Amino acid sequence: MALIVQKFGGTSVADADRIRNVARIITETYRRGHSLVVVLSAQGDTTDDLIAKAAEINPKASKREMDMLLSTGEQISCSLCAMAIEAMGYPVVSLTGWQAGFKTNSVYSCARIKSVRTERIMAELDKKKIVIITGFQGINKYGDVTTLGRGGSDTSAVALAASLNADLCQIYTDVDGVYTADPRCVKGARKLQEITYDEMLELATLGAQVLHNRSVEMAKRYNVNLEVLSSFSGQPGTKVKEVAKNMEKPYVSGVAKDKHIARLALIGLPDKPGTAFRLFSTLARHKINVDIILQSIGRGETKDISFTVDLDDMERAQELLGEMQSTLGFDHIDVTDDIAKVSIVGAGMIDNPGVAALMFEALYNAGINIHMISTSEIKVSVLVDKCDADTSVQVIHDRFYEEFGNI
Ligand code: ADP
Ligand code: ASP
Ligand code: MG
Repeated sequence: MALIVQKFGGTSVADADRIRNVARIITETYRRGHSLVVVLSAQGDTTDDLIAKAAEINPKASKREMDMLLSTGEQISCSLCAMAIEAMGYPVVSLTGWQAGFKTNSVYSCARIKSVRTERIMAELDKKKIVIITGFQGINKYGDVTTLGRGGSDTSAVALAASLNADLCQIYTDVDGVYTADPRCVKGARKLQEITYDEMLELATLGAQVLHNRSVEMAKRYNVNLEVLSSFSGQPGTKVKEVAKNMEKPYVSGVAKDKHIARLALIGLPDKPGTAFRLFSTLARHKINVDIILQSIGRGETKDISFTVDLDDMERAQELLGEMQSTLGFDHIDVTDDIAKVSIVGAGMIDNPGVAALMFEALYNAGINIHMISTSEIKVSVLVDKCDADTSVQVIHDRFYEEFGNI
């Protein structure tokens, strides 16, 4: 008998029939004799709808009140699913994140899990109950509800699997597993049987929303046995693990895109030491994450620095930099959200310098202009115009397929 954590995303619990489908998967696992802890997301577009509702009342609502509101979506799906399981005659209890012992820090809307006090869950499992837990939320030291950031239910599930020392953590979603690119947008995308934690972490961070990147980071740290699979198809999914033994393709394991970014460029900065430090330390103090950074070669006395941030941080970053114009001494700021990041990820590219060139060739052949480039050991990212993002992913995917026979 194993201890299994199963997580079901929003599409999987979108309506009554789908909740009954999920209840069937859960009870089948339970009938096989396993102990079962289940994490659910809010139904369908509930979280987006709640955000829209809040905007009607107060577009500048505090993050604390937003968390209070958004946490309700998961409560609805969990209680409904528990009712479906009750109706099937199985012992079940639903718990909120805080009832389940999720302690977080106090960063509302993007809280990080500090610990999971599992006593209540263990007590319910001892009573042979199926335990259903709201994803994406916890409680902070003030006793307030917090949420973990969009897509955070995956992280709730992996945190539970790590804390309970579960044998398996299954992330059920609306696709069959992790693909070489988003199977809804890219023709010829192929399901991976296995992927390493490191590659999955890069893909998730670079925009493949199939897993929340913090869930992958945690799975790697605690060596959680993680699997992504469909709640609809019954097909085998993708295993996420330390070493992927049977990967057919060593160069590139996936292509991802992220349209939710903005680029800021400071033009005419004085070309002297300390400029970048002052600029980026201010952004860091205000918890604004900076991604790709490009500094031009100085022209005479000045230089330019451009960088990308999450789209949600664009206005705040622009405001902060505006306030610093005289201290930093730049000429003007150029800001655009008409930009997207397209990336390739693969552990094998480190020994193969031709990989990046192949990506650039694919973009060149499609007439797509590259604005910025950034590389690491296992990824290459480029910035392109937002309207070119989807084509970029497709042509890069096609080019690697053509070159290597499979990506
Ligand atoms: P859930 O609601 O189950 O958490 P998400 O919408 O967060 O589901 O994630 C699943 C979606 O991720 C898929 O429907 C798919 O469109 C998208 N996706 C993006 N990149 C990939 C990829 N490389 N492999 C699989 N799915 C991907
Ligand atoms: N319901 C939350 C969201 O839509 C959390 C999740 O689905 O993982 O972002
Ligand atoms: Mg998700």
